[in-house]
Amino acid sequence: MTPIDVIIIGGGAGGLSCGITLASAHQKSWFDDRRIVVVDDDRSDLNQALLNNAPGIPMGTTGTMLLETMRQQLAAFPVASLVEARALRVRRHPESGFEVALDNGTTPRCLTVVLATGYKRWELEGLSTDPCRHPRGGKPTRLAFDHDEAYCMESDLYVAGLLAGGSSQFAIASGIGAQVAVEILSGWAGKRTHVHDVPVPDKSS
Ligand SMILES: Cc1cc2nc3c(=O)[nH]c(=O)nc-3n(C[C@H](O)[C@H](O)[C@H](O)COP(=O)(O)OP(=O)(O)OC[C@H]3O[C@@H](n4cnc5c(N)ncnc54)[C@H](O)[C@@H]3O)c2cc1C
Repeated sequence: MTPIDVIIIGGGAGGLSCGITLASAHQKSWFDDRRIVVVDDDRSDLNQALLNNAPGIPMGTTGTMLLETMRQQLAAFPVASLVEARALRVRRHPESGFEVALDNGTTPRCLTVVLATGYKRWELEGLSTDPCRHPRGGKPTRLAFDHDEAYCMESDLYVAGLLAGGSSQFAIASGIGAQVAVEILSGWAGKRTHVHDVPVPDKSS
């Protein structure tokens, strides 16, 4: 079976933002027939949040409402899907890419992995590195991975959201997710790129 192009582990602020931004490029000629999968087990910190300071989000929005909006936004793109499952293990496939073992008994293969599991726990087995203390997390139990300026930990392995070291604000976690997507898209495009849409002019008047 053809490997999925990107599996994002964690569908909170960072992971969903990464998936939405990746999928929004699906009409670019260089996107080809790539596929994006977000794996999530519904433990986002957003489930506890009431947002009055997230830019562009109406004040009083609950985090659960925002998660649902982002999930619907992801689902609107034909190249993306959300799998409700817990990832148990990630390891390099002997040929190329990775295989991700899920608690639903499947082990999908993919070419690129984005880790976006938040900064409170680390449960995945199989990687050669472990997270270290988060630089901006306050509590000593908060976790982050080292990465380069493109949020890349090692070849084809990225980190997004708070696990990449950002402070705990929705805008920061989702912003890092979008930046990771732009880095991956730029690799696919073979040049620096980003995805902008513009309104279609109304010709009726
Ligand atoms: C009580 C509270 C109030 C907050 N209020 C605000 C606020 O007012 N304004 C603001 O800007 N920010 C607020 N935040 C912060 C905001 O919620 C976080 O910054 C943001 O959710 C972090 O995004 P993330 O993607 O890094 O992690 P999360 O959103 O926590 O997402 C991580 C996701 O990874 C999934 N996951 C983890 N491990 C696995 C696995 N092995 N397999 C599959 N899925 C996995 C989890 O289920 C989760 O959905 C608040 C947070 C809390 C806790």
